[in-house]
Amino acid sequence: MLNETMYGYGAESSKIREIFSYANERKALIGEDKVFDFSLGNPSVPAPPAVRASIERSLALPPEQLHGYTPAPGLPEARQAVADSLNRRFGCAYSAADVFMTVGAAASVSCALHAVVSPGEEVVVIAPYFPEYRVWIETAGASVVEVLADQETFQIDPAAVEAALTEKTAAVIIDSPNNPTGAVYTRSNLEALAAVLERENARREEALGHAQPIVLISDEPYREITYGAEVPWVPALYEHTVVCYSYSKSLSLPGERVGWVLVPQVSEGARRVMAAVAGAARALGFVCAPALFQRVVVDCVDEPSDVAAYARNRDVLTQALASYGYTYVEPDGAFYLWVRALEDDAEAFCERARAYELLPVPSDSFGVRGWVRIGYCVAYEVIERSLPAWKKLARDYGA
Ligand code: PLP
Repeated sequence: MLNETMYGYGAESSKIREIFSYANERKALIGEDKVFDFSLGNPSVPAPPAVRASIERSLALPPEQLHGYTPAPGLPEARQAVADSLNRRFGCAYSAADVFMTVGAAASVSCALHAVVSPGEEVVVIAPYFPEYRVWIETAGASVVEVLADQETFQIDPAAVEAALTEKTAAVIIDSPNNPTGAVYTRSNLEALAAVLERENARREEALGHAQPIVLISDEPYREITYGAEVPWVPALYEHTVVCYSYSKSLSLPGERVGWVLVPQVSEGARRVMAAVAGAARALGFVCAPALFQRVVVDCVDEPSDVAAYARNRDVLTQALASYGYTYVEPDGAFYLWVRALEDDAEAFCERARAYELLPVPSDSFGVRGWVRIGYCVAYEVIERSLPAWKKLARDYGA
């Protein structure tokens, strides 16, 4: 009568959502401006005007076209627009057949996982990692293998990945610009990871007598949110890459649920992976991505992301926290600051922060101890008003 696993996922909402709900309760109780909610990755920058203009144009369509189902992989013109944009930006030669439109990055990663992973296999994640990866991997029947990022730079540690690979490893998930650390993986770091995977693929081919490559799932919803760092195009560095994307962050459309999966159709194996992505979307009940927002993608695919507000928040917050004695990872992208908690137990630190109405997310939910994530995708005034509280919290710890 009840699936206990699903009950567990539903009954215990994510830590991030729990803090978000607590923030809303506190705001209702003591006033919106007294609570500093740094929990969610909900972009504070409004969607660009081009999005509204596109929606207004679409509203003139006949209703059956406007609201009708699109083909399961998406509108041909949306898939083509994405392929053309990638070709312009990264010098590739993709076509619409390489792109599958999805209901945001959550669906992109879930479909990619279900497409390439079988029950009993393993998926490597780089810790700290986006907590939903565990839910999606386990729902695909696979197990999570956590590999710590380099603890100084929060780049991937290729030797640690190599040591964690087994004959059961089906995929590795990476996420750059990274949630939660803000690190952007450098070209040489990604090349080193690709070399590790290629070595393992060659070893397997020799042992098995046939190819069984590890798939690299590159989850990139923050690709455009950077402060000057290069974000290398991963499929150019490793052939067996599946890119997962959404417009939730780049166009500030998280509630509209639109993104894509890219599987470059370079081999028979890749064509089978794309068919499996379509099968996964079907099995998971994703009928098609929202039609209206697929049309927005056609019109806005090259719309630049407005990162100026995030850059200002980042600069003000990092300078202030440094002067109060906090240490953190210098964020090159995304809109999260990864700060060392002022005691080993990040949950206890967050409890103490609550006394000052500061609501960061403890690192335990991201698979590591002793840090917190501050989502700085908030109004500038929230950053500014929170600074005295961060200062008092540091003084509490004698910093
Ligand atoms: N992947 C990462 C790393 C994320 O941070 C998020 C959302 O915050 C997602 C995937 C899910 O994105 P979407 O809202 O497009 O489903």
